[in-house]
Amino acid sequence: MEILSSFRDPALSRRLVKIIRSYEGKPLNFMEFCGTHTHAVFKYGIRQLLPEDIKMLSGPGCPVCVTDSRDINLSLSLARISGVIITTFGDLLKVPGSGGKSLQTAKAEGADIRIVYSTLDALKIARENKERPIIFLGIGFETTTPTVSAAILQAEKEGLENFFIFSMHKLTPPATRAILNLGEVHLDGIIGPGHVSTVIGSKAWEFLPLEYGVPFVVAGFEPFDILLGIEKLVEQCIEGRPRGANAYMRSVKKEGNPSAIKIMYDVFETSPALWRGLGEIPGSGLKLKDKYSHYDAFLKFMPTFKAEIEDNLNCRCGEVLRGVIDPPQCQLFKKVCSPDNPLGPCMVSSEGACSAYYLYGNYDLPTFPPHTPL
Ligand code: SF4
Repeated sequence: MEILSSFRDPALSRRLVKIIRSYEGKPLNFMEFCGTHTHAVFKYGIRQLLPEDIKMLSGPGCPVCVTDSRDINLSLSLARISGVIITTFGDLLKVPGSGGKSLQTAKAEGADIRIVYSTLDALKIARENKERPIIFLGIGFETTTPTVSAAILQAEKEGLENFFIFSMHKLTPPATRAILNLGEVHLDGIIGPGHVSTVIGSKAWEFLPLEYGVPFVVAGFEPFDILLGIEKLVEQCIEGRPRGANAYMRSVKKEGNPSAIKIMYDVFETSPALWRGLGEIPGSGLKLKDKYSHYDAFLKFMPTFKAEIEDNLNCRCGEVLRGVIDPPQCQLFKKVCSPDNPLGPCMVSSEGACSAYYLYGNYDLPTFPPHTPL
């Protein structure tokens, strides 16, 4: 905690708030890509510290939320195969697929689904149950994929033949491009994901100012980090010179983590991926390379499977993930959809925007008119 105290120092944060509140100019829309940022923004009341002409929008940076219903349905089909043990991170359990069925309901109906905290746990289960297929449901962005690669390499080394991956991994820059290409929301700046950038580096976001004229900043997750990120975006907007900044230098390097990137692309290669709310985005997914395709659960168990997709049409997660609406604009928010009864993944996930709005409940507090003194 000692190390974090300066990043939570009220006096330092107040200084940044003062600079941000002195902004004079056209209204600005900033998007925080990452769900962890969204939760931190709410938890620390940062939206309420901003002047009313600076608005924060939540983006698609929650791996559970962007997992499409098709992939939930495919996961359910895998779970129903006799003898299979599914291993997954807990957040995925409650995400509803077609007809409201989730892995949790499949588990209640008898499927052997086990929550793990890492791929190492899944490997351990594979070692202890060599007569049964163990499928790890691989979700996550660039942050988690290197660990899945490491698990595949370890399985190869040990000659484990009952360990499989259903890869739903996704890459974040192509999704950011997709949002900008859609043009549904005007963005004056983007807060790049801190954890992901630790792996891919701040240079992965340089296309934003270069190709789209949109400033970016990579930020950490403490209040000071986020305020510093916003201040750096405001600064770029005032100067009218979009470039980019790294406000998370204690963790993120320009080049990222070359070892993590190498292991990721030793095992995986890019492929199209289906994103909830954004559809299929070329080059935004990761599939196992041919050399490791014998670990591919999809190829192993159902290469011709066609999943029927029947979403809850009233759930507006897709629009939430694109920053087009805020969760309270969904008619189900809080009335019938809550963390205890989630009707969409943005409420299920601990990184989802709907759960952030629900949990912190301060979304309807007023922001400040421009130039309000602190
Ligand atoms: Fe979907 Fe619930 Fe969020 Fe509405 S409040 S968009 S139903 S998750």
